[in-house]
Amino acid sequence: DLPTIYAITPTYKRWTQKADLTRLGQTLLHVPNFRWIVVEDSNEKTALVTNFLKFSGLQYTHLNAKTDQNYKLKSTDPNWLLPRGVAQRNKGLTWIRKNLSPHNNGILYFLDDDNTYSLRVFEEMRSTEVASVWPVGLSGGLKFEGPGKCKDGKVLEWYTAWKPERPFPIDMAGFAVNLKLLFKYSEAEYSNDAPRGYLESHFLTGLKLKRHDMEAKADNCSKVLVWHTRTEKPKMKQEEALIRQGKSSNSEMEV
Ligand code: UDP
Ligand code: MN
Repeated sequence: DLPTIYAITPTYKRWTQKADLTRLGQTLLHVPNFRWIVVEDSNEKTALVTNFLKFSGLQYTHLNAKTDQNYKLKSTDPNWLLPRGVAQRNKGLTWIRKNLSPHNNGILYFLDDDNTYSLRVFEEMRSTEVASVWPVGLSGGLKFEGPGKCKDGKVLEWYTAWKPERPFPIDMAGFAVNLKLLFKYSEAEYSNDAPRGYLESHFLTGLKLKRHDMEAKADNCSKVLVWHTRTEKPKMKQEEALIRQGKSSNSEMEV
């Protein structure tokens, strides 16, 4: 049987949210045996995401979990100041642990809403026995980050420049784990208090994994199948001026 991929996506309100979700959702329509766990960073589920999912054609679970104010970035903060998506990923993990069991043949993946995913990365992760890893393009200040040299499904060298001492010098998009492991170590989760750059490492060490445990995917880590792209903030000077003056029209237009 083809294992099901359970992908957890944190998402938050911003000008490009619907555009990013549309692009990602249309990629995911091509992935068989897939459930999308979308977790909004909000107190309530929004109409925008509710409607988007309803008409997406995807199998999904819609949740929400607001980031604690103390950990919330201000729009003027540089994005590296605080971790992003922690409460949302944990909410998704809780849902999986409540609604599935170790008998579910499934793979867990964390899918950020603005990255770029080749369909091949989903086929690669589907055979994950315990935990797997592959390079992520445009990450860590390098053309790619993560496993750099692999042989016979094992990682021999890691390609990383920033904080190479991290237990796992990889991006969120560069690993998947078998659901069995999630039930075996039922406490493993994300933390807002992990040092900067240690989000992935904190979670993976919580699953009692070591670097050498990781199964190398993507043709012995010789291919980049996922890219850490980021969506540019659109220039909304005119619209924001209208909003401030209470003159923004077309309030029924969902963008
Ligand atoms: N995110 C969120 N709340 C926030 C900021 C980000 O839920 O306040 C989500 C975002 O939608 C994305 C993930 O967390 O799915 C990672 O955030 P982002 O893409 O901004 O981070 P980066 O690309 O810098 O790693
Ligand atoms: Mn991103």
